[in-house]
Amino acid sequence: MAAAPIYFDHQASTPCDPAVVAAMAPYWSDDFANPSSRNHRPGLAAAAAVETARRRLAGALGVPAEAVLFTSGATEANNLAIKGLCEARMGQGRHLVTVATEHRAVLDPCRYLERLGFALTVLPVPASGLLDPAALGAALRPDTVLVSVMAANNEIGVLQPLAAIGALCQARGIAFHCDGAQWLGHLPLRPLDWGIDLLSFSGHKFYGPKGIGALVLAPGVEIAPQIHGGGQERGLRSGSVATPLVVGLAEALARALADAPQRQQRLLALGERLRLGLEALGGIAVNGALEPRLAHNLNVSVAGVDGGRLHRALRQQLAVSGGSACSSATGEPSHVLRALGLSRAAAAASVRFGLGRGTTDLQIEQTLASMGEIVKRLRQP
Ligand SMILES: *Cc1c(COP(=O)(O)O)cnc(C)c1O
Repeated sequence: MAAAPIYFDHQASTPCDPAVVAAMAPYWSDDFANPSSRNHRPGLAAAAAVETARRRLAGALGVPAEAVLFTSGATEANNLAIKGLCEARMGQGRHLVTVATEHRAVLDPCRYLERLGFALTVLPVPASGLLDPAALGAALRPDTVLVSVMAANNEIGVLQPLAAIGALCQARGIAFHCDGAQWLGHLPLRPLDWGIDLLSFSGHKFYGPKGIGALVLAPGVEIAPQIHGGGQERGLRSGSVATPLVVGLAEALARALADAPQRQQRLLALGERLRLGLEALGGIAVNGALEPRLAHNLNVSVAGVDGGRLHRALRQQLAVSGGSACSSATGEPSHVLRALGLSRAAAAASVRFGLGRGTTDLQIEQTLASMGEIVKRLRQP
């Protein structure tokens, strides 16, 4: 029987660290009370666990504890940031700016606001995938209220110039939202140092649980809530806080940051080995700039093969992705690769390798052997 495919989809999700699962364990069935139940001891104990988790996360990010608002993940955090900020500043202006290579969880809320009457600028990027801060500066208007630029791209791994973007926004009093889902837990991030007013992230991208994330709101930045109800999270995100998930989120970030330097160093070497081995096949182009990028991401286009056939063949041996996991259901070639200038065919014949904690030397060797065999076969006339 076929062996389990080698998992190369760590930008779509990472396995939950067993130590994180253990940290969450008491909060499912033992310490299960609602952390909003402040009138009894079990409720207060759950609230204490939530606040400890909040302080741990805030400490890692260098923000006050109350800056951390728990959400169901980065999609919700992005929606809350973008819609919430624009609603709160509607009286000041109705223009927002984002980038063509953003995640759908940023682009779609922006387009939603456009349908409601906001003006939207979606900035193009060159083939490097890197936003030119001067192009951003030129797009800013007196009525611009929000700029949303991601930290690390989920498909091509490139790192955007956050400090320069933050400085541009700060000088004009424009709010800067950053989708940090791919950066957090992998590289150090102190949002306030870079002028990031709103930062989104998600637990399952750094070996934590799915269904939990946060929006970090810089002190003084006001947003309008998008989910109304019991008034949890300072009234900005109603709904009972999921104690086990927030405990897991804080534990996962601490553990991911603790081994990030060694992990990134190891994955950088494995990624280089993979890239050089693939390039030796010929007709392989890396999508996006090689620098600066996440050590654990490599996205390549394979010339001379049909994308559909390539991915059907790869599926037997590798768990890889063509575009982002979220849009692969539609069968459309990745909007990110198209924004870099790739043709539909080249975008379809692209493969994203997302390396992670479990990736080994042997897996890289096996992958190179599979890719070599498949590409050679598919290129035969
Ligand atoms: C995974 C991801 C998201 C969505 O996060 P969820 O927590 O799964 O909703 C948003 N943005 C980026 C860049 C991502 O990688």
